[in-house]
Amino acid sequence: MSSNNPPRSTHTVASRLTLWYALFYTLFCLVMLLAVTAVMNSNAVKRMDQYLSAEIDEFNAIYETDGIEGLAKEFRQEAEAYGAQKLFCRLLSPNREPRLTSNIAGWEGLDAELRAVAVPTVPLQPAFQMLYPAASPFNARMATLKTADGHLLQFGINLQSENRSRQKIQRFLIIGSVLFLGVSTLFSWVVAQRAMAGVKAVTRAVSFTRKDALDQTLPREKKGREIDDLVDAFNGMLARIQSLILEIKEVSDNVAHDLRSPITRMRGAAETTLMGPQEIEPYREMGSTILEECDRLTGIINITLEIAQAESGLLEIRRNPIDLYALLTDAAELFQPVAEQKNIRLDVRIAPAPLTLPGDQTRIQRVVANLLDNAIKYTPEGGEIVLAATADKQSVRFSISDAGPGIDPAETERIFERFYRGEQSRSSQGNGLGLSFARSIVVAHGGTLTVENNPDHGCTFTATLPLVPPETR
Ligand code: ADP
Repeated sequence: MSSNNPPRSTHTVASRLTLWYALFYTLFCLVMLLAVTAVMNSNAVKRMDQYLSAEIDEFNAIYETDGIEGLAKEFRQEAEAYGAQKLFCRLLSPNREPRLTSNIAGWEGLDAELRAVAVPTVPLQPAFQMLYPAASPFNARMATLKTADGHLLQFGINLQSENRSRQKIQRFLIIGSVLFLGVSTLFSWVVAQRAMAGVKAVTRAVSFTRKDALDQTLPREKKGREIDDLVDAFNGMLARIQSLILEIKEVSDNVAHDLRSPITRMRGAAETTLMGPQEIEPYREMGSTILEECDRLTGIINITLEIAQAESGLLEIRRNPIDLYALLTDAAELFQPVAEQKNIRLDVRIAPAPLTLPGDQTRIQRVVANLLDNAIKYTPEGGEIVLAATADKQSVRFSISDAGPGIDPAETERIFERFYRGEQSRSSQGNGLGLSFARSIVVAHGGTLTVENNPDHGCTFTATLPLVPPETR
């Protein structure tokens, strides 16, 4: 036998979840890194510009009060205090010729760079620029101020140390992100594993369920509501399968048991005829016996299947409004001739108010016919049968009371079993399927069919059917 199982997925749900979480965390870290770096850079530039602005204003004040000599002294002092590599100061004439420059020996390429920069047009308002001297490994921030007499003051700061500390922070952030990514992915994996543990437990339990033991139920292991729901759904399905299998087994047992006698009868008839005189008459009789038995068999098979379908919930019940008054009076009329043969009175006691119930008209008719047939069969000559019906807000009830022997209390439930026939009824005609069929149909309508012995004699079968079918409530 070849297996048609679809190919198994190679990825577990836990690994997929972990992958998605990892992807999400990576994106999150990247966005955070970019955002933090952007904010850090803009803050650093803002701070630097404030400092440059203050310094260049001071240079301008010195230039205005002490002239070019005072400024030269100030440039020297600045270079000495911070180091010539750290900053540069320049004063340019209005036609951009350097008049005063601090020591820029360490600033290779600065001169060329400075010639290219734009200068402010409005006096006393500093303009800021980033400088990337071509030959220098670092960059600088520079402020340029146009003095009142049209000279240009330039003051630049090497950003090497700022860059270094920013790189340090960035490195720290990257390492932190990678660690966070690792830890959170591990954590996600553990969480996903824990979440899936319940599903794995159910799978294990299902795999260990003995193949022949459908009455087993999986225990709820309190691994979360979803898992409990899964267990409940599985147990529910197991119960349904079990009931269907029992149903099939029962039907096959019944069929095997009850088909044997008609088949034996047919075989007996054929054998006797074949061994008897070879005349047309016995063969005719055999043919009609076999026909009768075949019809009986077909009836038994059909009704058994219908009961099995109704009991397993597979029977399609059409729900149309049924006029119960009409249905019961029609049934009484139909059985009138049979009742008359035994001198039995059929009494329909129904209030003339309309009694409508939703249901499968043909099948309810057959239920009534079965009950009425039994009532006539078991009621002695001259007796009385009463058909009655009542209704309340929720249900409609109809009953058939007879004047027969009643039901032995020990048999009250057994009479509804398939093929069960009471001790005293074995001699009378029947196959023991009538009541079983009636109850399965009433139950399929969401109702009940019960029997009670009457106080004086006989018994009453009562069917209670809901006005609103259970599944639409
Ligand atoms: P059948 O009538 O073919 O035997 P049913 O399923 O209709 O099969 O009934 C099952 C058994 O219930 C009958 O054999 C009989 O013993 C008992 N029974 C049914 N209806 C009545 C009744 N109205 N009065 C007494 N016994 C009944």
